[in-house]
Amino acid sequence: MTTGTTHFAVISVVAALAAPALHSAAHAEDLVGMAEGPNVVIHYAKGAEKWAELALELFPGANKNALDTLGMTTNRTVTIHLYATRQGYRRATGTTQLDTLGVAYPDRNQIVIDCSEADLYGNNSFKVTLKHEMIHVAFGRLTARTGRRVPLWFNEGVACRAMGRLTLGDPKLLVRAANTDSLLPLAELAYRFPRTKVERELAYQQGESTVRFLLDEYGAESIKRIVDRMDRGFTFDEALAEVIGARDFEVRWARYVRRKYPLLAMIWNFFSIFTALALFVIFAYAVYRVRRRRTRRRWEQEEQQDDDSDLYY
Ligand SMILES: [Zn+2]
Repeated sequence: MTTGTTHFAVISVVAALAAPALHSAAHAEDLVGMAEGPNVVIHYAKGAEKWAELALELFPGANKNALDTLGMTTNRTVTIHLYATRQGYRRATGTTQLDTLGVAYPDRNQIVIDCSEADLYGNNSFKVTLKHEMIHVAFGRLTARTGRRVPLWFNEGVACRAMGRLTLGDPKLLVRAANTDSLLPLAELAYRFPRTKVERELAYQQGESTVRFLLDEYGAESIKRIVDRMDRGFTFDEALAEVIGARDFEVRWARYVRRKYPLLAMIWNFFSIFTALALFVIFAYAVYRVRRRRTRRRWEQEEQQDDDSDLYY
């Protein structure tokens, strides 16, 4: 992951959907210590001791936040693996995605976190990652219980909301996409996110935005209501349609995103390259007209002077 603008690129993968299996057995030697708390077992690598301590302290809050967000009460033990180096983390997860700080394996109530990134960005970054991954674990429980899954854009959207703010890359990406008709179709984000950096960031921003829209327009209980409907046997799409009272969620959300940033949209449209080209053409034509008018006026004056001279001669 790059530093700077993607400071908190807490981008994770729902492993059951997008990441290969955890090679925990092959690299068990990397994890040298263990810590236990209520509903959590932490295995950590050498060098990650202080993060294990922090994870133990933060876990109850992160777990409660995830369960409260989804309106769930089940309390199964979560296993957390903490790696002190990028290499250890990547070996364990097999992830090739450079921008991930953590991976959730919801089908086995497991989270893996790269603490070398937390070393760089501090305790809050670690807390945010843990909260994010715990949402994935909670959705995993929902799927295990109902046999129904939620689309990835929704899963990531709720997880990003749980982080408390949108910090994934250039915040203008979404505005620009909404106002240039280049939003990624949600159906394409149901099972996997794009691999390229910009599209990937846009996918996360879209997910976060859909959830923001849902909560703003249809009430703070919307996520819980969807979960509740799914518990009663609805698919995600059916549950969503019932909660918003309509079947065109994506159309409504796109409209909301466009409406939300009208000024920025105008500025963007104004300065888009095509507008700039059009303005240049108009400007060039105006300059041409002014020059032509001046030239003509000069000719006319010269003619007038000629006339005048005729008159006075
Ligand atoms: Zn995630």
